[in-house]
Amino acid sequence: HAKRVQGGGMCIFTPDLEGAIRRDRAIEAALQACAFDDELQLVGQPIVNARTGMVEAVELLARWNSPLLGDIAPSDFIAVAERSTLIHGITLTVFRKGLAAARLLPDHVALSFNISACDLHSPATLAAIECEIATSGIAPSRIWIEVTETALMRDAATAARVLQRLRSWGIKVALDDFGTGYSSLSNLHQLPLDKVKIDRSFIDDVQAQRGWAVVESVLGLCRALSLQCVAEGVETASQLEALLRIGCEHAQGFLFGEPLPVAQLPEVVRIVSRRNAA
Ligand code: C2E
Ligand code: MG
Ligand code: MG
Ligand code: MG
Repeated sequence: HAKRVQGGGMCIFTPDLEGAIRRDRAIEAALQACAFDDELQLVGQPIVNARTGMVEAVELLARWNSPLLGDIAPSDFIAVAERSTLIHGITLTVFRKGLAAARLLPDHVALSFNISACDLHSPATLAAIECEIATSGIAPSRIWIEVTETALMRDAATAARVLQRLRSWGIKVALDDFGTGYSSLSNLHQLPLDKVKIDRSFIDDVQAQRGWAVVESVLGLCRALSLQCVAEGVETASQLEALLRIGCEHAQGFLFGEPLPVAQLPEVVRIVSRRNAA
């Protein structure tokens, strides 16, 4: 991301940028030395049907405590891992651990995994994911895969073909962080999707007229295209009320539960379902 000086071909780094680059290099080196099985932990966050109070799925999110660097946020280490084949090892570790944790959850709860654009373009990774799912004994219909708009835009034809194959197997595909990329409303109908997750920046804003208008129009579009719509980042009861009023019943956010270690999920699923039903 260095700025290129017109004509000179020289990179100018601000001190901040230099620091960020050094940090990314350190993260990459630590990832290369990382024993994923030991150092990567999984947390899970409930995705609920706010009308019925049931937990429909758990999104699995990676946590990394590096012995070299300490806790690194996924947004930092995933971005670095995506620049090399390191991401595939992370993805597979998350699947392996997530599928193992799923054995402790009731059958009606789905597992939602984030996968990177690079994974969609790696036949070996896809084969390994399919193998993990098959040997886990978990029905593919219980697996959701979350992809971002950016992932779908990069070599869209290949991405679409891969997602279509996963769907033919029963896996559900969700478009993550909708509204933050550039696919936008115009080509939503061309993508092989089952669900759309509206990015939390719009939910944040739901009290304000503009966020509200976006959420309402995405919801209308999802209905017209028979896509399930999930609101991300629901933090307050008034946000939830507003969402229910416009008919958006699938939601995720701190209001229902923050991401917790997967060992605690069976308990979380019970508590959230009971509390919401009450
Ligand atoms: P995401 O897939 O959009 O996941 C949702 C993020 O929003 C999570 O951050 C979650 O902790 C946070 N969140 C959930 N509810 C709320 C809320 O009510 N308010 C606020 N402010 N935040 C909320 P996290 O765990 O830090 O993950 C960040 C991103 O890193 C994820 O965004 C996802 O894109 C990526 N990521 C995490 N784990 C994996 C992974 O295993 N593989 C891949 N490829 N990406 C991952
Ligand atoms: Mg996600
Ligand atoms: Mg998201
Ligand atoms: Mg997000």
